Parts: sequence; structure tokens; C-alpha cells
Amino acid sequence: MKGTVLYGPGDIRFEDREDPKIAAPTDAILRLSATCVCGSDLWPYRGLQPIDGPTPMGHEYCGIVEEVGSAVKFIKPGQFVVGSFATSDNTCPHCPYGYQSSCMHREFMLRAQAPFLRVPQADGTLVATPGGVPSPDLVPSLLAASDVLGTGWFAADAANVKPGGTVVVVGDGAVGLLGVLSAKQMGAGRIIAMSRHEARQKLAREFGATDIVTERGDAGIARIKDLTKGIGADSVLECVGTQESMMQAIHSTRPGGYMSYVGVPHGVELDAQQLFFTHIHLHGGPARVRRFLPKLIDLILKGTITPGKVFDLTLLLAQVAEGYRAMDERRAIKALLKP
Ligand SMILES: [Zn+2]
Repeated sequence: MKGTVLYGPGDIRFEDREDPKIAAPTDAILRLSATCVCGSDLWPYRGLQPIDGPTPMGHEYCGIVEEVGSAVKFIKPGQFVVGSFATSDNTCPHCPYGYQSSCMHREFMLRAQAPFLRVPQADGTLVATPGGVPSPDLVPSLLAASDVLGTGWFAADAANVKPGGTVVVVGDGAVGLLGVLSAKQMGAGRIIAMSRHEARQKLAREFGATDIVTERGDAGIARIKDLTKGIGADSVLECVGTQESMMQAIHSTRPGGYMSYVGVPHGVELDAQQLFFTHIHLHGGPARVRRFLPKLIDLILKGTITPGKVFDLTLLLAQVAEGYRAMDERRAIKALLKP
């Protein structure tokens, strides 16, 4: 088969790779129905995160099970499955506690920008759609559940979004937009999306944003304070991972409020004393997507949510380099890749 490999900044190649094979009895091999480019793939693509030689890319996936190892009990060939970017056994002390993305047997997925994929800990990592293989129009939304929706949902959950509460979402990438959708599902009363990009503002409104703030930095914080009678928001979702976005989120949160951060921080430094006096709850990390997958799959199959709308560019896998370019230049929110 061919698969996607990053050689260096801006250098994405779709080249011959070995077909994945069962390597451990707990593995499964999937034939992917769709995969995509993640905002986090752009860090190494832009040279802002070092890579150790040519690196196979991709960690968002859904598809049909082709083959399972001898120790796999629940996942069966022929099922349509969605999995997280972090593998989990679902049995260690962290997994039943709901933190599968800190599983003692965690591996971070790679190699998903390809037609076939090996998934370790198949029984714990994968969730099969009830009712068999879903209709093709649901595939983009189910693919979104694998990472961006799961991460947006975690962001809203970790920021303690409650019915009627005021929510600020920092970041208008796919995760931020799906953080808006998640906050809406959790009953937020007011959802302020911070975005200066027209197409993204439109989607944010469609997903449930009630207000748009285009200012950034101190001006952005001042605007949030204006909109909340000087109080700040009950829940703030930080979905970028830069110093500016973290500071904007921290200072948009009311004393006693909750801030989540789900964008992998890059070059962020926090002043503990400054943080001390903000009086906010902070919770972030690699999203515990696996915990939320059954619920998210159910909402998608029922047609309650359509997170697949974040894919505004669909390409063939062989065109993966164009997907990276389009997202890097912010011409696309998120690129879906079809094998
Ligand atoms: Zn575990």
C-alpha cells in the first residue's frame, strides 16, 4: 500500500509502505473508510515540532475491521469501528476511571493517513457502530468523533459546561468549532466564539455560538469582560495551545470558573503566582476520546449532531500533500482524505 510520511517542514510524501500486519494478539487491522489531516499535524509540518527522521502521519480513523489477533474477543471482522488517537486497554486502573488517554498501555496512533491501519489493544481502543455498517453520509461525522469532536467534547466537559452557563471558546479550528457544538449539546446558555475568519464564524453560529469576538490578546479579554458584565465566563475552552491563547483563556475565566486546554501547548509558560490569584480550575491534556465515543457515536447515528461539517475539503489520499497545504494556509478548516 501507499502511506503518508513527513520528511521535513512542508515535505509530505505519499509513498510505498509495508502493508500493516497483526503484530500482537490484541491488534486489529482496519480498512479505512476515511481519514484526515489534524491541526496538530501542522506543528511538525511547519517545523515547529522536531521529528526524528521520516515520520508516518495520521491518527484519526474509522473503517471496517479486516482481521483481528487471536486475543481479541469483542471486535470482529466486518464491523465498522471508530477509535481514538490514543490506544487503551480499557481495563487498567486509569481506563475505568475515564482516563483512557492515560492508559498504562497507551500508544499514540500514527500511520492512519493510509488505506490500512493496525490498531493495538483493539478491544479497548475501538468502538463498533451498533446496527452494522453506517450509511456513507455519516462517515465524515463518525471520523470526526475519532479526534476533533472527541477533543471538543472533552474541552467542554473539562470546562464544566452546565445548562445556562456562559462559555467562551478560544480557537476557531475544527476542535474549537466542535467545542462550540459540544457546549451547545450540554445546554450552555451563551457561547462566545473567538474568531476573525468569516467562514469559521458562520460554522460557529451554525453549531450554536451566540456571539462572535474578533479581538485578540488584551483587547479580546476586554471584549469578553464587556460581554459578561465585567465578570468573565463560567467555562472557557482553550483550543489552540499558544501563549497568547492560553493567556486569553485564563483571563476570560471568572474567579471560581473552569478553563480547559486541549490544544497541545507549544512554548507556553505560566506564572504560578499569577495563576494563583485568578482562582480558576484548570483541566486539560490529551482528550479522553474513548470515554465519550459511545455517546458521540449514538448522537451522530441519531442525527442529533453533524460534526462532519468541519470537513470543508475532501481529497483522495494520494492528494494528502494538498490537504496539508490547504490547512496550513487556512484555506481549509479540515481536510478529509478518502482511500
Ligand atoms: Zn488502560
